[in-house]
Amino acid sequence: MAVLRLGDDIDDYCIKCKRLTNHVILAIVQDQPAKVRCRTCYNEGPFRRGDIPPSKKDLRKAALFNAVLESIPAAAPAPEPAPDPASKVKGRKK
Ligand SMILES: [Zn+2]
Repeated sequence: MAVLRLGDDIDDYCIKCKRLTNHVILAIVQDQPAKVRCRTCYNEGPFRRGDIPPSKKDLRKAALFNAVLESIPAAAPAPEPAPDPASKVKGRKK
């Protein structure tokens, strides 16, 4: 793998351009780009490894999906603590 250096060009997703664009590496942490600047709009941001951040629409979908998941009762019985046999004996005093 080629050694990355400050000022190198690298492809990454630009949130302003909303697409993959050429970026300049501004900061490197542990041999990984940490901060980059879009060569098209000069927007600076963290290096996203080309990952496209989820849109608000996708986030809403994910929230709905999670809500549906939570509404489904678990297949296995809820992990409640086993009833203590001693607790059944009530009203008995020493
Ligand atoms: Zn851009």
